[in-house]
Amino acid sequence: MATELKTIVVTGGAGFIGNHLCEKLLSKGNKVICVDSFITGSKRNIQHLLTNKNFEYMGHDITTPLKLSGFDELYNLASPASPVDYYKKPIETLFAGSFGVKNTLDLCKANNATFLQASTSEVYGDPKEHPQKETYFGNVNPIGPRACYDESKRFAEALVVNYMRQYKLKTRIARIFNTYGSRMRKDDGRVIPNFIIQALKGKPLTVYGKGEQTRSFCYVDDLVEGLILLMDSDYPMPVNLGNQEEFTMLELADKIIEMTGSKSKKEFLPLPQDDPLQRNPDISLAKKLLKWRPKTKFDEVLEGAFLRVNERYFQGVIEQPNLQWGQDSFRKLAHYNFHNDTVTVSTLFQKARREILDYLMYHELLHKYHQFSHRNGRSSFHTREFRKAEERYPKQKEIEREIGNIASRRKSWKWW
Ligand code: NAD
Ligand code: UDP
Repeated sequence: MATELKTIVVTGGAGFIGNHLCEKLLSKGNKVICVDSFITGSKRNIQHLLTNKNFEYMGHDITTPLKLSGFDELYNLASPASPVDYYKKPIETLFAGSFGVKNTLDLCKANNATFLQASTSEVYGDPKEHPQKETYFGNVNPIGPRACYDESKRFAEALVVNYMRQYKLKTRIARIFNTYGSRMRKDDGRVIPNFIIQALKGKPLTVYGKGEQTRSFCYVDDLVEGLILLMDSDYPMPVNLGNQEEFTMLELADKIIEMTGSKSKKEFLPLPQDDPLQRNPDISLAKKLLKWRPKTKFDEVLEGAFLRVNERYFQGVIEQPNLQWGQDSFRKLAHYNFHNDTVTVSTLFQKARREILDYLMYHELLHKYHQFSHRNGRSSFHTREFRKAEERYPKQKEIEREIGNIASRRKSWKWW
């Protein structure tokens, strides 16, 4: 039976999670209308979607009412989300979680559409219950520096359940725990982009407090899958979505230093006020209700990401991909896989390997050509010239042999 395709509004669709959600919904054949004010998001995040005829973008701040009709669902992701962002814009954050949520709820009410609120683990504050279940009421300082975010999200949940109770609106609430992945803003101040960029630049990793506080990080593709499953369910109460792999920020810093092969040290800075000391979701409800669980292992993605030296995530961080560094990580990984048949690899991980192989092959050849053209009195070249040269120059055989060597080495790698 063919699934009926929907028209779906994603507010905050140009943000980190939002653009991945738009991408996924489009890939399922839906029409997507992304509404965003770009207060913390960026047009770059949706650039790759603009040519899709099913994608529409609308510049709008949801704290003022918006006019839209003829849609089936609305995912409300519009809110600053990184502590650095909401410390700078506390009033905008409070308004997004209050007026913004009211306006988007009213829009759904007028269109008889289903509403999903992107809530957060921050509603638990600095939790006294661990791991956190949906039934835990939380421990939040209502006037601290994080209150603009935490309290606006708590108010938003109260508003959503009361629209559901009083107006019989179809509503969902996702309590999202720390999420990471590609297209996070490199300056958004969250710990993963901070540490990766510091490590890549050889700068000290800024660990807040003693680094004993814990977090558990969910890969964005897993999270997006959970959001869609929740929207498709008929459950109106909050559901935790997150990964349960929990570690301290000190362990995270060490992991990133090790994986990047960076020489960076750690620098200890004061712990921000009210920074939660531990965080880990109890996801029994999501498992039971949505048959959802995160599939992606943190180490695999991170290692994959480091290998994708040309990936947009690092654009502007490392100006020139570092071949030596790429080769070292790659060899380490190849070695690991040779000796570990049972390793489970995600699609992303395999793609990363392929990319690094292409990258290495290209650079090895480029290097060869560089030597060759240097010997032949040519010092500048680029890819097109290189291709032409393959045909033109008598050393072609040497280059072909090299391609052959690389290709046969490639076949001998077990996982290829
Ligand atoms: P983000 O800052 O990258 O994206 C938020 C997007 O919303 C941005 O594009 C921003 O421009 C837009 N926006 C903000 N206020 C707006 C307004 N008033 N009108 C229109 N657009 C507005 O953040 P993110 O990490 O993608 O988070 C998305 C949602 O998920 C947020 O609601 C956040 O609270 C929630 N969440 C995220 C995480 C996480 O780890 N990333 C964890 C828990 C909850
Ligand atoms: N953190 C850190 N160094 C950084 C950025 C963050 O040690 O450069 C810590 C921060 O104090 C918090 C954890 O990392 O305990 C996660 O911070 P993030 O801002 O990513 O998200 P939060 O969970 O606080 O919303």
